[in-house]
Amino acid sequence: MSNEAITDYHLHLRGDDLGARADEYFTAENIERYLEGARAAGVTDLGCAEHMYRFTEALTVWRHPFWDEWAIDDIDQYVEVVKASPIKLGIEGDFIAGAEEKLEAMLGSRPFDYVVGSVHFLGDRSLDTEEYTIWDEARDPDDIWRRYFETLADAARSGLFDILAHPDLVKVWGRAGRLPSVDPRKMYEPAIEAIAESDIAVEVSTAGLRKGVGEIYPSPAFMEMCVEAGATFALSSDAHEPAQIGFRYEDGLEFLARHGVTEIATFEGRERTSRPIGVLGTPNTQRKSIFGAGEAPGEQ
Ligand SMILES: [Zn+2]
Ligand SMILES: [Zn+2]
Repeated sequence: MSNEAITDYHLHLRGDDLGARADEYFTAENIERYLEGARAAGVTDLGCAEHMYRFTEALTVWRHPFWDEWAIDDIDQYVEVVKASPIKLGIEGDFIAGAEEKLEAMLGSRPFDYVVGSVHFLGDRSLDTEEYTIWDEARDPDDIWRRYFETLADAARSGLFDILAHPDLVKVWGRAGRLPSVDPRKMYEPAIEAIAESDIAVEVSTAGLRKGVGEIYPSPAFMEMCVEAGATFALSSDAHEPAQIGFRYEDGLEFLARHGVTEIATFEGRERTSRPIGVLGTPNTQRKSIFGAGEAPGEQ
């Protein structure tokens, strides 16, 4: 087997249906559907990273009404099913300032191949959902952006995570009132410094192309600053269903190449290895056009 890799490490086996039971999703059959999606998309290295807040144990880390509603699954059932499968075992952890020890107890005590770290909340307000949103009229977007990148820096430095997820998630909505009034480069600086010091891998995520902002995470300017700082990169789609695996990877690979990145991070047992970025097979244009229309992707 060639040493080249095309990874998709940040994906969710669980759909966003709160009513669905874990044992419909944490199964060998469901993982097989994701493996089929990976084969169709030309992805060579597949791993999942379920949201930590889907698991009851997360409530030992943080209490928030959103988590109280979603934390219903058993983390050890998830670990067991994925470990017995051919895909890598990851988890998407939220950085919760002040709860680092509890996070370490939950994320550091299980046989994960990697831990993806995210900032979805500032305090108890959400950046990327309308429920509990931080984006109310009274707040200054510049202030939210600044605080976001400072918190991202703390997440990188915490040592809890191997990969920094969707690094400029704060741009997700891409619309007036939620964008900064000034060039955000200065705001990026604390995060870039922390990335350089911590050596955490930076996720290039095509998920941003599905959102209001319509742009890969991170922005070209953030990416340039990461490259200058000598960062390592991971590539993912943040798929929430099998048809989203490798979502618009032709754009993701072009983005990496344009920034002179030729190697991608792979993980096993939380050890990182850099491997040459592979070449995509025949891109599935049918899938592209389905996604391009902004519709829910269908089975082929
Ligand atoms: Zn996320
Ligand atoms: Zn995710």
